[in-house]
Amino acid sequence: MPITRQLIIECGAQSAHGELPSPDRYAVFGNPVAHSKSPRIHAAFARATGENLCYESRLAPLDGFVEAVRQFILEGEGCAKGANVTVPFKEDAFRLADELTPRARAAGAVNTLCFHEGRIWGDNTDGAGLARDIAGNLAFFAADRRILLLGAGGAARGVVESLLALSPAALVIANRGTDKAKALAAAFAGGALAPRGMGLAALAEEPAFDLVINATSASLAGEALPLPAGIFAAGSLAYDLMYDKGETPFLAQAREDGAARLADGLGMLVEQAAESFFLWRGKRPEAAVRAALMRQLRAT
Ligand code: NDP
Repeated sequence: MPITRQLIIECGAQSAHGELPSPDRYAVFGNPVAHSKSPRIHAAFARATGENLCYESRLAPLDGFVEAVRQFILEGEGCAKGANVTVPFKEDAFRLADELTPRARAAGAVNTLCFHEGRIWGDNTDGAGLARDIAGNLAFFAADRRILLLGAGGAARGVVESLLALSPAALVIANRGTDKAKALAAAFAGGALAPRGMGLAALAEEPAFDLVINATSASLAGEALPLPAGIFAAGSLAYDLMYDKGETPFLAQAREDGAARLADGLGMLVEQAAESFFLWRGKRPEAAVRAALMRQLRAT
């Protein structure tokens, strides 16, 4: 099956004389992928850090992810250095990688690939991106606070380890399907704090939470969640992994139910990209660059 190549190719540092060596090449693979903001984000990072690279988006066939990545590496003639992976290929990328970082292994999914000396390394920067947005950009300190994670799919699995690393007093994972929530909690039971898994209705029996994170795809479908009243503690932060031009259904619901602060996942998107960029280039774009980019992305 032919690989469809998107037309969006963004390049970073430009030489005044056009004499730079061939740029290193990166891509994001997804299906669909045309909406992806990653080419813009990485081009901005490359300009800000003076790195000579090109970043494009590639639409891989649903049954052709591995072939698409291998073709990208071959075409690059040594210049293909890495890739991001988005829906629905994160588990395929996990299986494709020759080597996995501990956080990719914990997440069971890969969103960042590094091509190095003929081997493919897989990492997952989603959890780090979320934690940096919450602790850094939003200055919310989760230590000894109660965290509720809604959802038990790929995105939720990818952030559990990073949430536990914030040393909360409790981490509850609640999902529409109770068994999935319990299984996800059990998978992370070995550390200092064991998360607890439950169904959404059981939240009625829980004390309120200081941080409530929506990692379900309900907002994507424009749906609110069947949440009991009173889950948001005074001063709490509601965070939706989804980002949209306006307020997401979850954030509207959180505002009405008393959450003090609301944040969508645009900050996580930029921060997970910064983490991928750091893996590839050894440079982290400055906070001011990341903040300016978030403002630009939100405005367009
Ligand atoms: P999955 O399909 O793996 O999981 C979907 C989850 O949502 C499941 O837990 C499912 O519950 C739950 N769900 C779906 N619809 C409803 C509903 N109507 N009511 C209640 N629960 C529902 O999706 P992902 O985990 O990959 O993605 C989740 C979200 O995270 C998406 O919106 C995605 O865009 C976002 N995301 C954002 C990122 C960022 O950088 N900001 C990065 C990664 C993801 P059940 O098990 O019962 O079916």
